[in-house]
Amino acid sequence: MTASLEAMRHSCAHVMAASIQELWPGSKFGVGPTIGNGFYYDVLFPEHIGVEDLGNIERLMRKKKRQQLPIERIVLPVEKAIEIMEGAGQDFKVELLELLRDKGSTAVVDATGDRNISDADSGGETEVSFYKVGDFLDLCRGPHVARSSDIGHFRLTTVAGAYWRGDEKRPQLQRIYGLCYPTVEELEAEVERLEEVKRRDHRRLGRELDIFHLSPEVGAGLPLWLPNGTVLRDELEFLAKEHERRASYQRVSTPHITNEQLYFQSGHLPYYKEDMYSPISIGDANYYLKPMNCPHHHHIYLSRPRSYRELPLRLAEYGQVYRYEDSGALSGIIRTRGFMQNDAHIYCRLDQAKVEFTNVMRMHADYYRIFGIEDFYMRLALPDLDKLEKYVDEPEKWMAALDVIQESMDDSGLPYQEAKGDAAFYGPKIDFIIKSAIGTEYAISTNQLDFLATERFGLTYRGEDAKDYPVYVIHRAPLGSHERFIAFLLEHYKGAFPVWLAPVQVVVIPVSEKFTSYAAQVYDRLMSSPVRNGSLGFRVELDATSDRMQKKVRNALVRKIPLVLVVGGAEEAAESVALRTRSGADLGQVGLSEFIDVLRAAVEQRDDTPFQQHFGGE
Ligand SMILES: [Zn+2]
Ligand SMILES: [Zn+2]
Repeated sequence: MTASLEAMRHSCAHVMAASIQELWPGSKFGVGPTIGNGFYYDVLFPEHIGVEDLGNIERLMRKKKRQQLPIERIVLPVEKAIEIMEGAGQDFKVELLELLRDKGSTAVVDATGDRNISDADSGGETEVSFYKVGDFLDLCRGPHVARSSDIGHFRLTTVAGAYWRGDEKRPQLQRIYGLCYPTVEELEAEVERLEEVKRRDHRRLGRELDIFHLSPEVGAGLPLWLPNGTVLRDELEFLAKEHERRASYQRVSTPHITNEQLYFQSGHLPYYKEDMYSPISIGDANYYLKPMNCPHHHHIYLSRPRSYRELPLRLAEYGQVYRYEDSGALSGIIRTRGFMQNDAHIYCRLDQAKVEFTNVMRMHADYYRIFGIEDFYMRLALPDLDKLEKYVDEPEKWMAALDVIQESMDDSGLPYQEAKGDAAFYGPKIDFIIKSAIGTEYAISTNQLDFLATERFGLTYRGEDAKDYPVYVIHRAPLGSHERFIAFLLEHYKGAFPVWLAPVQVVVIPVSEKFTSYAAQVYDRLMSSPVRNGSLGFRVELDATSDRMQKKVRNALVRKIPLVLVVGGAEEAAESVALRTRSGADLGQVGLSEFIDVLRAAVEQRDDTPFQQHFGGE
């Protein structure tokens, strides 16, 4: 943000506060910083306010803008400032001033996200600055624009709850958010973007399209998958199984609870304990819900001696795991307490690791092509390489693993960034970041090259020379978890899934009751047409309700069902269907057999383009 934009937005926040004070005398003000598209201010109102009050505040702000009030800077001794704020009943400001006086540090204050306070670095403050707009005086570091007429174009958007200083034991204030831009065009563009963000919100689409349900009775962060959402999960698993089978993975299954001994061996206890739930005692042992599938797969590796001929050994599982998340961190199905991971572990020799790792990256790229995800990159987490020996026990092994990863990133030809810090002690890791249509970044999968598991678990293989050698482990989960990936897909497709993924692919609608029996024949043909190696038929519905035909079509469009087949006398006579797409396009009459063949191609190729090329529409 440029300094002038910052000053404009911050002044806008002051003008809002001045208006609030006029409308609700006795309001107590917390902090009011600028943010990426405007500003907010935390206020304790004498009464609870709602979004319906924002218009009144805006009106008064516009009046103050027209009045061209000067914004004046006033410097006061800190004791005098405290006296004035006490007199005005501004308890929160008094608290901030006392902090400034006693600690002189903004560090304490900045932890609350406040940026209104002057930037002293040490010792107590003796003087503080205030800014005055009309009658309203506010503690502030500044800078500000010269007059209230320079606050740009603004709109107040939402009211939310916010605890004073982020502490739930302190009073709850109301946070008012505002947008602020130099031009009306920029403001309108941001308003439109925020509308689109709302329309694509995975929680809203998840509810509207019956994908998942979060129920307080079941528990926070524990989603229930509805029939439509379960279709999405099944299709994703089917996709992964196909790709993994072609890449010579073998599938395994492991239990949800596990004896604590395993987690002592893996090091999860005690190092990962705060991410795990309290144990369940069974007999005289403690059992934990599994937070990761790795130790289980390692024990599958250990179930018998392994020869060099078996490597690389690739064990795959869609594995359910449970990790502790603070209730405040839970967000729809992006962050949950239980989730299903597209997991696998590849056991190999060091000299095989590069090819294996490159293939994992290519598998990511294959999936992204299928989903039309074009905006993505890999992020390699690096420690401070000069101080590596302080950070890990075996710096040589760490560097060897890093070489493998960097070479395979280059070989993959995919875009990547290197980021200092955040590296894992057991080896270098790569996160895949994908961006949704509205610019949200999802860290969707993590890949690691692990050289410590071999020691912790005694993972070795018998070489040609009959000696035992250590094994390297690649951890990978290209599709991440069902929960996060489906949240992404909802946002990415705005709920309009391609045909292969759509929970309901086709709905058949008779033009009138007279043609219900032909509609039922069409339905049966679709239900019983083999798709993809003879698996179940298409996902089709017959709408035989008493609603009028137009209403049925509208219902199908609202549910974002990709294909609507309307049938009447002409269609029955020609053994055809009248085809409409969810975009509303009417593509006219097509033969039923032809329709089925082209639909099958689109589903099997996981790509709608053959369908669009043949019939048109989108
Ligand atoms: Zn200010
Ligand atoms: Zn793992």
